[in-house]
Parts: sequence; C-alpha cells; structure tokens
Amino acid sequence: MADEIVFESTIPWDSERPETLIISCTDGRWRPYIQQFVTDFLKTSPHTDFMAVPGGIEPLTLVDLIPKDFNFFRRRIELLIKSHGTRRIVAIAHQDCGWYIARKIGPFRIDPREGQIRDLRNAAARLREMFPETSVETYYARRTGANPERIIFEGV
Ligand SMILES: [Zn+2]
Repeated sequence: MADEIVFESTIPWDSERPETLIISCTDGRWRPYIQQFVTDFLKTSPHTDFMAVPGGIEPLTLVDLIPKDFNFFRRRIELLIKSHGTRRIVAIAHQDCGWYIARKIGPFRIDPREGQIRDLRNAAARLREMFPETSVETYYARRTGANPERIIFEGV
C-alpha cells in the first residue's frame, strides 16, 4: 500500500468495458484534437482504450524489419481484444510526426505524409487479417487555415 492519499477523483468508478481501441502517436500537442475527434466524430465511450507510442501504428508495419517491435504491439492488441471484447480499432496519424521525420534517411526533410498513409493502410490490412471480427478505421490529422490554424481529420 502507498503511504499517503494525495488525490481523490470526483468521478465514481464505472466498470463498463470499452469497445474501441485508439492507436495514435504520443505527441501531446495533438492529444486535445484527437480526444475531441474521438468524442465528437467517432462518438465512442469515455472508456475508450488508448494506445499511444511515438509514431503511432508504425510498429505494425515492422513484422519483417523489426519483429520485436511488431510483436510488442501484436501481443498487447491481442490481449485487449480478448479481455475487453474490442470491436473497433481506430488508427490516427498526424502531420509533422517527429518519429517519422527522425526516421528519414539522408539530409532532406521530406514531408513524411506519404509514408504515414502507406503505413496506416498496411497496418490496417494486417489488423484486419489478424482480427477479422474487429473493424479497422484509419485517419490522418493535419493543420489547415491560418490565425488560428485548425486541425482537420481525413479518412485514409
Ligand atoms: Zn507523432
């Protein structure tokens, strides 16, 4: 047991299982927009599962290149689907993702959007193959407009 209670949530415990798993990048700048997209557009339960690592879905494309990373993801998604009865997986990538930018080989800073979209599609195909009972959706979030910029989500 911990020594000292430092905080008590005002929200009563509710054991409802989430039906949806969101897989996204860790980048906290995008989190409020992703949260709003999930609540207002996807209309999922507040109990929705979130799995966030830098680069989001990318490890699911690494079955041949870095199988250890792929399996880390696969094992955890398998367990979630089994224990939570997940029916829907939603993968979200975002513009200017630091993970994709850092992965680039060579001196040129190319917009990684194309690679991210390819990875979303490949990962979705892989997920559908592994979990045929679960629906899979993929989206790409980016900035648009000016003063202030807004965030939009595109289906991939
Ligand atoms: Zn990112």
